[in-house]
Amino acid sequence: ANFDPLTGLPNRTLFQDRLNQAITKAHRSKSIVALLFLDLDRFKHINDSMGHHVGDLLLKAVASRLQNAIRDGDTVARLGGDEFTIILEGVAKLKAATIIAEKVLKAFKAPFLLEGKNITVSPSIGISLFPNDADDSTSLIKYADTAMYHAKSLGRNNFQFYTEELNQYATRHVELEAGLKEAIQNNELYLVYQPKYDIKTKRILGVEALLRWNSPTLGFISPVEFIPLAEETGMINAIGHWAIDEACNQLASWHQLGFDDISVAVNLSARQLKADIISTIEVALAVSGLPASALELELTESMIMGNPQDSVKVLSQLKALGLTIAIDDFGTGYSSLSYLKRFPIDTLKVDREFVRDIIEDPDDAAITSAIITLAHSLELNVVAEGVETQQQLDFLKYEGCDQVQGFLLSKPLTAEDCLEKLTQDKLEKNADIVSEQ
Ligand code: C2E
Ligand code: MG
Ligand code: MG
Repeated sequence: ANFDPLTGLPNRTLFQDRLNQAITKAHRSKSIVALLFLDLDRFKHINDSMGHHVGDLLLKAVASRLQNAIRDGDTVARLGGDEFTIILEGVAKLKAATIIAEKVLKAFKAPFLLEGKNITVSPSIGISLFPNDADDSTSLIKYADTAMYHAKSLGRNNFQFYTEELNQYATRHVELEAGLKEAIQNNELYLVYQPKYDIKTKRILGVEALLRWNSPTLGFISPVEFIPLAEETGMINAIGHWAIDEACNQLASWHQLGFDDISVAVNLSARQLKADIISTIEVALAVSGLPASALELELTESMIMGNPQDSVKVLSQLKALGLTIAIDDFGTGYSSLSYLKRFPIDTLKVDREFVRDIIEDPDDAAITSAIITLAHSLELNVVAEGVETQQQLDFLKYEGCDQVQGFLLSKPLTAEDCLEKLTQDKLEKNADIVSEQ
């Protein structure tokens, strides 16, 4: 009852006993216990793609590499799934915990040879210390777990020590999650609209809808913070649904005011890209009366490359509704160019990371012009986002970019301000036509 049948390592029960013993001992001898919490990166992917049998072999192989990386007397345990823990006793200095963590990472450098295939897997490791961080086993486990999540968020394959700030971060996470649950009902979410301009005529072609959350208790929270949280918790489905409805209704009302050549782009998250997105959008279009051709969906590379076959299917069904599809933040993810050709997409949006440095950094300039060329040869439209200076705009125009978006031309605007902007743009456009005649 104390050992994990697959790997033969101590299981959760024995691990907890050993941790308690280690704490008692360290208390007496005034030494440090380090708890390493280890989770394999992308294990689920290996399990799903290569089968559970290979997954099991990998876990066994990992267990033996971990045992080889530690000293006699230290404990490696498997808590379940792909989660392992290591208890380091009698740690004299913090440095010792660092050295072992480095040794563990190193133990994963060589690929695992399983059924004739080389499989590379890395761990993310969180470390908590007795008595520095906590003096009971429950808190130590919780803190090492928190630190492990931090390691994952920093790009995996690394180790992180628990810190008080991490705990504050985790606390904020809980607060935000609770707040976000109520945000829709309490009308705390709204959309702002950032115009997209034709680079040649400088006229507005469309707007991108961007989510905003103003919480009465937590204040203004950036989408960069709450969208990942909404994705993690699944709340993005309800929020994203709300955003689609809202954007379609808003645009339909602007169309009725005569701005019927303006389109709206809505950002989607990976979790929304499921079969029911089709009916969500169909209903939003039907209810608002917005023509499908005025709706664009922005997706990121990573969200469609994660599962390219399924993505092609859903995207094709969406396209069949008559809307257009853009790849957002293009260039930052991992795109298979052959898939790019097969995806039914219309537009590439060059990520603002590249645009930011096109003037100073020749590499970013080269990447940007390559993306423009690539897009055009695939007969796609190119939009550059995050354009902040005239020089950037001039460069993009010279390189043949089709559309631009950015603070230079307009920040994201509330619906009210956006309507004003559209009105002004239309007046200028009419004036241009008159002066041309
Ligand atoms: P994104 O879709 O790439 O949106 C562009 C972001 O760049 C926006 O940030 C926008 O305010 C900002 N931006 C635009 N022009 C400039 C510029 O000239 N300089 C700089 N520095 N920034 C500029 P925002 O609104 O904070 O949104 C961040 C991200 O949150 C979006 O990136 C998008 O990925 C996500 N997001 C926003 N709304 C939604 C939504 O309704 N659904 C989903 N799934 N994601 C959303
Ligand atoms: Mg976007
Ligand atoms: Mg973007």
